[in-house]
Amino acid sequence: MSRKLRAAYHGLQMTVAEKKPSEIARDTLKLLLTRKLVPNPANYRTVYHEVSGTPEVPPFPADPLRHMIQALPLRTPAQQRHRAQLDHAIAQQNWTELQTALIAYTNAAAPPVAVVTGKADPGHNDFLEQLARLIENALPALGNDDARFADQARQLIAAIRDPASGTATIKSLLGNFTLRLSFAAEDQAEIRNTLLKLLKLIIENIGELSRDDQWMKKQIDALMEAAAPPLSLRRLDDVERRIKEVMFKQAMAKGRAIEAQEEMRRMLATFVDRLAQMTESTSAHSQKMEASARQIEQAKSFEDLGPVMKDVVSATRSIAYEIKNTHDELRAMREKVAVTEAEIVKLQEELDTASSQARHDTLTGALNRKGLDEALVREIADVKRKDTPLCAALLDIDNFKKLNDSKGHDAGDAALTHLVAVTRESMRPQDTLARYGGEEFVIVMPDTQIEQGIEAMTRLQRALTKRFFLADNEKIVITFSAGVAQLAPGETPQDAIKRADQAMYLAKRAGKNRVVGA
Ligand code: GH3
Ligand code: MG
Ligand code: MG
Repeated sequence: MSRKLRAAYHGLQMTVAEKKPSEIARDTLKLLLTRKLVPNPANYRTVYHEVSGTPEVPPFPADPLRHMIQALPLRTPAQQRHRAQLDHAIAQQNWTELQTALIAYTNAAAPPVAVVTGKADPGHNDFLEQLARLIENALPALGNDDARFADQARQLIAAIRDPASGTATIKSLLGNFTLRLSFAAEDQAEIRNTLLKLLKLIIENIGELSRDDQWMKKQIDALMEAAAPPLSLRRLDDVERRIKEVMFKQAMAKGRAIEAQEEMRRMLATFVDRLAQMTESTSAHSQKMEASARQIEQAKSFEDLGPVMKDVVSATRSIAYEIKNTHDELRAMREKVAVTEAEIVKLQEELDTASSQARHDTLTGALNRKGLDEALVREIADVKRKDTPLCAALLDIDNFKKLNDSKGHDAGDAALTHLVAVTRESMRPQDTLARYGGEEFVIVMPDTQIEQGIEAMTRLQRALTKRFFLADNEKIVITFSAGVAQLAPGETPQDAIKRADQAMYLAKRAGKNRVVGA
């Protein structure tokens, strides 16, 4: 500002300051009139301050403030003290005092929290450690089926605990982890639901299946197997379908077969009854006829013969009548038997179809060929979607015929069950085991390169040598020969299994008890 201008400004202030209140009031009214403003209190106040050169201070809203302050809770003595300060500030119309009292009241209501501002804050490291521990503690609740999820969690925890990692790294890892966590949590919820559904299914069937203990045992076993950790949706799915489709059908067909047998038994009882009655009445008739014959012999005249003939005719008639009746009854019964027999044949066929619809081998509980085919369809869809490698292994027990011949067929069966149990323990939950033929099994390993596939089979061989099984109190170690093939681009899984079979044959030729890659 130039000196001239500053002097003029100063002069103006002086003129304004020198005005009397009556002059200011008059000039204010004049200005309101010139500006054609409505002469209400608000306009008057604004123009008044303009004319007098004083700052326009908005009126202190004492009443609304008092109203608000009355609504504040008074739970602690500190709050009560600050409330009194607030009242005082309002009474004094003092904004500064009001602000101080309000801050004091707020702090008394909620003790100040340490704010995480950055690495300089000592609370920061504590917070990160808590976060790491939270993730560690939450993991077991989410199951350990997904190896990649567990890896991701470990990586995240390590990054959180590493003082060198930057916020951006932790944030990005945390983002990925959160996404996968939501999937894992969804999986867990679904596993629980499926388990509950399975349980309900079993309970609903208890009444119907109580006639057959063996049957019931199988259901319970399947449930136990499904409930054994580690759980996976795929396994639960399989068991649910198995129980639903096979056991339901078989239980129903069995129930009807029992009814049909009952009917047969009833008919047989009636038949025997009828036969007994027939012999009884026939002997009664023959006694009567004999008596009549004697009377005929002793008859002296035709008149004597009259009543006897009457007896004979009526007896003959009733014999003929009874024979006809019995004959009709027997024919009806024969027809009924034929119908029941046809029903039993039909039920047998139904049972056979139900069995053929089963996806599991009844001896070992592994998938059968049908179950394998279905599993392969699922795996192939997965391979195409995720573009991951897949291995198929085919294993054949060595010298199985010899075991059957020397220890008996039951020992052979036990060896198959033993192999399946050990294989299941050594496999990952996402692998699929199927009985391919008599003593041949296929293992499908998703997300597996050929080297890892061969390694997995070798690991199983080692597990089998450690886990013998007993036949006639004799320790028997079973060995197998296996071929492993990795699915080639565009190849069908059936073709890959064929290649694995050829490699298995090479393993046999090379002296058995070995694994060969195709
Ligand atoms: P290799 O080492 O060359 O495989 O000889 P092997 O004796 O194992 O093979 P082979 O194919 O000659 O014999 C397989 C035997 O497996 C013949 C068959 O009786 C028996 N077998 C097939 N299914 C079953 C079954 O369910 N239970 C039992 N106990 N034996 C079975
Ligand atoms: Mg064989
Ligand atoms: Mg064999």
